[in-house]
Amino acid sequence: MVTVLAPAKLNLGLRVLDRRPDGYHEIETVYLPLRLYDRLELEPRPEPGIVLEGGLGSEVPTDATNLAVQAAAEVTLLLGGPAGLRIRLHKEIPVAAGLGGGSSDAAAVILGLETLRGSHLSPADRHALARKLGADVAFFLSPRPSIGRGIGDRLEPLSGLPEMWWVLVVFPFGLSTREIYEETSRELTLPQGGSRIAPLLGSSGVRESAPNDLEKVATRQHPEIGAVRRVLEQVGASVTGMSGSGPTVYGRFGSREAAEQVARKVGLSAGARTLVASSPGSDSESWGWGVAKG
Ligand code: ATP
Repeated sequence: MVTVLAPAKLNLGLRVLDRRPDGYHEIETVYLPLRLYDRLELEPRPEPGIVLEGGLGSEVPTDATNLAVQAAAEVTLLLGGPAGLRIRLHKEIPVAAGLGGGSSDAAAVILGLETLRGSHLSPADRHALARKLGADVAFFLSPRPSIGRGIGDRLEPLSGLPEMWWVLVVFPFGLSTREIYEETSRELTLPQGGSRIAPLLGSSGVRESAPNDLEKVATRQHPEIGAVRRVLEQVGASVTGMSGSGPTVYGRFGSREAAEQVARKVGLSAGARTLVASSPGSDSESWGWGVAKG
């Protein structure tokens, strides 16, 4: 059996640069991995077929539409080996929240199944498979602070970023990544150029809030997103924003203690809850993520 921890991500700013003929968008964003993990256990089973278990709520499919199952089927096609696999998925990453949970699960299955089979894809095949599964999956193959370009799969690691502490506000509703992109794309004049994100990074981390082109549409659907950002600013967050296509809103605080204090006390709209998580610095060697056999 192999156990894999699949981290969440934050997007610090997200610029939609162009729409592509295949429906994806060219973007520029900063990805940060978070120490907030789904846990996956992969185990061969004698009968053929991929089975996904894990007491998952109604919002997470357990059939072939689950990204973890899709990843397992694709890796099995590429590497061969026994067709029977059981995946136990313990979800901690909020679903449809802009935190990349499904994509991270998919990357975790790619890496975990390679370990389980004792056989590896070439880096090029692994990257191509990640890209086929979704725009964010490539980031999770090697999660570290990075600028993402292309559809998010052209990654440039960022050096010099410190560990940072975040309060995440998770809402009781999810947002469809596709819908938010579609509507944003209709409203923007594309293509648009220019980097607005990389200049906001400095040696002490993220200096100021970076704009997210998807936020206008998401906030129009759910004004709570804007309200919560203002609350986090009022209680002292140095940087705030909405992650990816939302709805999760984050605020940066100077220490774990400061983040935990805010997370306990901040007043939120009905149903919203807070989580505290850190993002590892650029030089962090071991931060808990990874594949373990046995
Ligand atoms: P994105 O990476 O597209 O921004 P997200 O982080 O906002 O995604 P996810 O938690 O990945 O959202 O889930 C988006 C949808 O994908 C869910 O509503 C669910 O139906 C489907 N899904 C498929 N596989 C998974 C998975 N392993 N975990 C969670 N959701 C999954």
